[in-house]
Amino acid sequence: MTRIIAIIAHSGLFFSRRIRVRGVVRWVWLLPVFAEALTVSDAWVSPRNPERALREETRYIVLHTTEAASSSALQKLQRRGEAHYLVDETGQVFRIVDRHRVAYHCGRSMWDGHTNLDRISIGIEVAGYHDRDIEDPQYHALAALLKKLRRIYSVPDHRVLTHSMVAYGAPNRWHSRDHRGRKRCGMQFARDDVRRRLGLRRRPLFDPDVRAGRLIQADAELAAALFPPSRSYPAGRGPHPAMPLVLGRDGKTPVSLAGSKWNRPCTLYFLTDGRLVGGDTLSEKDARKLPVDTRVWIGYRVGGMVTTKRPAFAISGPRWDAPDTFYLLPDETVIPGDLADERRIPDGTRVLMRAE
Ligand SMILES: [Zn+2]
Repeated sequence: MTRIIAIIAHSGLFFSRRIRVRGVVRWVWLLPVFAEALTVSDAWVSPRNPERALREETRYIVLHTTEAASSSALQKLQRRGEAHYLVDETGQVFRIVDRHRVAYHCGRSMWDGHTNLDRISIGIEVAGYHDRDIEDPQYHALAALLKKLRRIYSVPDHRVLTHSMVAYGAPNRWHSRDHRGRKRCGMQFARDDVRRRLGLRRRPLFDPDVRAGRLIQADAELAAALFPPSRSYPAGRGPHPAMPLVLGRDGKTPVSLAGSKWNRPCTLYFLTDGRLVGGDTLSEKDARKLPVDTRVWIGYRVGGMVTTKRPAFAISGPRWDAPDTFYLLPDETVIPGDLADERRIPDGTRVLMRAE
């Protein structure tokens, strides 16, 4: 029995500990740590590792393709300390630089206004080429590695980026301005099907730096590959953690849902005929007569209406794709931000945002 427990514990399925309770030694079973087998080899740790600064923030994980066989890529990465990990063709993971230190993997880079992403990201090299699929064992190993790192650093799906997304070029003889399109590295990791296999549900839907005018787009083909239209749209009808409350179901009334806030301006009622009204415009009599299935947001305000000249991003800023930002389409569909495709939100859509 003891031997079986030791084998299970050793396999990484469970984390157990021996403690002494009132003089008696007991085993205490803690939460499962990780079910996937993930072994990381130290055979190729870079000699640069000890001299690299500790990273203060980990906002992104950046995926690369080596564009060469791992046998030669490992030598170069080790010599220069150019990644935190490499996943080779067989799915073996090698540590190059400690994950809490800075590795030089991005070069000239920008994302969402942040520059020099090496300071705020982890870099993973995957042996392979940007225009070819990776091997099955690589999918398994990379998915396990991403799961572990994302949990440690709380990196959401859409902040797992590709090098081609974040690299940019300085002005040169072809482009008068800073421009996107310097690299195609890792571009297959933007694909929905590839990301799903890696356990990633969301991806960036557009280039925030091109949109904000910080960069110009110099590689339209790359941009089309990195930011294809989202196929999940409009999927906001299923259960969603932040979806609004609904009147009438189980006898729900404005007061039972919103309490004393039922008649405040920041309690919004979206009636079944498409009208959107604030609680402060309702009398007690009106409130009693609100139709069944009226949707209710508490602590919200109307950010504005989407027009050709004023896209959703201009209204809600960086929170445009947050699950608690809502889009009320002209056909009365309600889409939470994390399920929205910003380019397909039609004119006349109202944007609801949390009131600060
Ligand atoms: Zn790269």
